[in-house]
Amino acid sequence: MNCRGIRQWLHSYLDARVDPNQERMIERHIRSCAHCRRRLVELARAVNLMEDQQLVGPGPDFLRKVFAGLPGQVEFPSPHRLSPAARVVAAWRRLFG
Ligand SMILES: [Zn+2]
Repeated sequence: MNCRGIRQWLHSYLDARVDPNQERMIERHIRSCAHCRRRLVELARAVNLMEDQQLVGPGPDFLRKVFAGLPGQVEFPSPHRLSPAARVVAAWRRLFG
């Protein structure tokens, strides 16, 4: 899967609208591709700004704040039941945690 293919899927990925195979492919690519990783962060920020203004403060350190606010031991439920910000965090933990 190349970058172009991955990028077409990133939005669906954040919305938990990809199947497990796609999800694995996307995550494998994101792990190894800094460009797509950055794109995912940008997209996540945009999605969160659209869907939940209260959750997200403006500013470039939004993700840092999201991560900093998380309790360490929480077990994340299925992405399908999470808010967009929580889905991003859950995805991030699977990728880099
Ligand atoms: Zn890429």
